[in-house]
Amino acid sequence: MVYFMSAKDYKARVIVELDKMRDRLVEMAEAIHSYNEVGYKEYETSKLLITELKRHGFEVTPNVAEMSTAFKAVYRGKEGGIKVAFLSEMDALPGLGHGCGHNIIGVASVGAGIALSKVISELNGNVMVFGTPAEEAAVDLAGGKVRMLGVIKEADVAMLVHPSDRNLVTTKNVCREALKFEFRGKAAHAGSSPHLGINALDAAMNMFNLVNSLRQHLKSDVRIHGVIVNGGSSPNVVPDYAVVKMYVRAIEKNYLDETIEKVKNCARGAALGTGTTVEISSYAMRYLNIVCNPTLSELFRMNWESLGLVVDEPPERNYGSTDMGNVSQELPSIHPYVAIAPKGTPGHSVALREAAKSKTGYDGLIFAAKGLAMTAVDLFTQPLQVRKMREDFAEFKRGKSIDY
Ligand SMILES: [Zn+2]
Repeated sequence: MVYFMSAKDYKARVIVELDKMRDRLVEMAEAIHSYNEVGYKEYETSKLLITELKRHGFEVTPNVAEMSTAFKAVYRGKEGGIKVAFLSEMDALPGLGHGCGHNIIGVASVGAGIALSKVISELNGNVMVFGTPAEEAAVDLAGGKVRMLGVIKEADVAMLVHPSDRNLVTTKNVCREALKFEFRGKAAHAGSSPHLGINALDAAMNMFNLVNSLRQHLKSDVRIHGVIVNGGSSPNVVPDYAVVKMYVRAIEKNYLDETIEKVKNCARGAALGTGTTVEISSYAMRYLNIVCNPTLSELFRMNWESLGLVVDEPPERNYGSTDMGNVSQELPSIHPYVAIAPKGTPGHSVALREAAKSKTGYDGLIFAAKGLAMTAVDLFTQPLQVRKMREDFAEFKRGKSIDY
């Protein structure tokens, strides 16, 4: 295949497109920040992103995998070539709003897609944008990417950029299971007939004590953290119903399973001791650890550095989890982080939420979109890099390492 323009020329063109689009992209990110829509309720957000993609000629399929806010958008280049997908996270956190900056993710991916659509007619391949709801496991059945993985797999590559307090190209994280424990007892007057009651809140509190005793005997990569979301309504009534939600995280899937069983036994033990019953369920999709494709990561790094961005040294591991992990185990993927706040600013915080609607936040958005679009140009114009990327992925699949 002979291209009359080089990768460098195409990159220059997508950069110009994104600079021209800046005001519109900022306007969209600001609007989404104000919508504050939590998982599976990203109605206005999804509508805004879809409208913009359609306006630029994308073919859009809504309601992907029976999720009303999920979508698939495609813009076709010449026949053949690879399909590059950008994923748009959109959800806010209940009570906190866009404290994870997903307004930036959603718009950066759409911006990268639109910028590429201006040059793709000269190249082989397709550019795709997926609207991926409910990344935050703050709502039941969270994990939109896991539910729509069959559709995402129509692409050959998946990428998104997440806001952060630093610029990172690669990351290592952990697997996560979201569990719900429902304890049931018996209501009774807590003052005059407590002997006739069975206390579900006591069961929940004892479960926490047992989990805390367990911690000493678990490997250091394990994270267990929970909340009591229902613990009764009045001190004068023995609580007959209590609900605990708990995350269990670990690097390896097998050790995660082992730990989950121990945590379940804590709940069963607490139920036995208090005379309650307990029902245990998973309330969100299991998230797997992320696998950053080395070839893709290197291309992305070179593109960012060519824009003058300084990439920070990654921490040894990030103990969070994302449904992008599941995607990254099915197709070559990257999940870089772009700095939008001073170093040390935690995720899921008021400070990050404010940064996600600041000038620094919007500068990060444009850097994110440029990095994504430029890396896609590399893939559309350099078959050798595509082959290397696929070899990396095959190596991971052969079990070289759990996270490279
Ligand atoms: Zn996030």
